[in-house]
Amino acid sequence: MQAGGGGGYLTYTVHDFMIESPSQFVVMPDIQQRPQHPFTIDCAERFFGYFAKQPFNFAGMIRSIVIYDAKENLPNHSYAAGWLFQESLEEIGQLGSLPNHLGSIHFEFGGTTTTPTIRVQVAAQTPNTKWVGETPYTQCRQCQQWWPDERIRGRVCPGCGKSM
Ligand SMILES: [Zn+2]
Repeated sequence: MQAGGGGGYLTYTVHDFMIESPSQFVVMPDIQQRPQHPFTIDCAERFFGYFAKQPFNFAGMIRSIVIYDAKENLPNHSYAAGWLFQESLEEIGQLGSLPNHLGSIHFEFGGTTTTPTIRVQVAAQTPNTKWVGETPYTQCRQCQQWWPDERIRGRVCPGCGKSM
């Protein structure tokens, strides 16, 4: 990961996440095992081999990538779709459910798509502030709990202790 061409963008490659120890790139088990076009580890290695060192930009710090849908049918049209998270896979494992993703990533190659193509999109952020009577509240984007602003010190969530 390195600072990109202005606008607060950082430049990443899939390879960066794969070589973390432990890896911060994962294919969801259910798509590896589905009866139609299972996206096995072999499929993933073949498909992502075309993308491993291709740079992509994102305006924010990404810690992990989770692939939730994919189909490898090379040399015919093939794709993979994933979510970008600010948490590591270990932190996500401890949460027990997927936190809000920062963005999504889409990989496409094969068929009429003659060069490996990566598209990245920022997730729509729902407003995380509201008023209850005279009291402003802010919702923690990590644990989803609402807190009156007077209880939040230094942008740290009183519930989960993480940066809001
Ligand atoms: Zn929290």
